[in-house]
Amino acid sequence: MIGDRIRYITEKMHRAAVKSGRRLDDITLVAVSKTFPVERIIDAYRYGLRIFGESRLQEASGKIEHLKSFPDIKFHMIGHVQTNKIRMLKDYFSLIHSVDSLHLAEKMNSYFYSIHRVQDILIQVNLVNEPQKYGVKIEEFDEMMEKMKDFTCLRVRGLMFIPPFYDDPEMNRDNFRKMKALFDETREKYRKFKEFDILSMGMSDDFEIAIEEGANMVRIGSAIFGERG
Ligand SMILES: *Cc1c(COP(=O)(O)O)cnc(C)c1O
Repeated sequence: MIGDRIRYITEKMHRAAVKSGRRLDDITLVAVSKTFPVERIIDAYRYGLRIFGESRLQEASGKIEHLKSFPDIKFHMIGHVQTNKIRMLKDYFSLIHSVDSLHLAEKMNSYFYSIHRVQDILIQVNLVNEPQKYGVKIEEFDEMMEKMKDFTCLRVRGLMFIPPFYDDPEMNRDNFRKMKALFDETREKYRKFKEFDILSMGMSDDFEIAIEEGANMVRIGSAIFGERG
């Protein structure tokens, strides 16, 4: 069951890592547990998973409080954060993948300043200018990165990407490759971000391609937990 699924995914991650000259250990698996109850998180925990991705703050905070007795469990925020809900972030997330605008970054920085926390974050990139999608557009990317230097309570750890939907995930190989190039360029150019080392891309249907093209963090939900209701 879930153990078999996790083994199967891990095996695929391993093969994709080797194809790109890396090892399984170089790739971090975020198990996307949104919409699934805490019991399912505990199941996955028993099979060795430690990092869980949530996309809604209300739901996430309940689960995180519930699982406080698991000291080595970590949660990542992967969904859009509304500015009026920033206060719900607290110290709940070891990484926020979805910093998707300068405005949000400004507000988050003020919030984390007020609670004396330095928060690890990723910049979500809207690489192909999909109008309905969150994320920083390529034209705005440099301005965003320049401004991020001033936000002392946000530690920029890397980039996050959600590709356009295609039936055939191969259609996104080129976009993953472009994201890897942007990630490498950004690391070179903005040396101020000393721990800029995470490229989060790849979900259930396309994680192997994303890893082959350079992802070092994948966010996998349905392939682990089953279809969401
Ligand atoms: C839901 C979600 C995922 C996981 O998607 P699956 O197709 O179930 O693997 C990954 N990333 C983000 C941002 C999501 O919202």
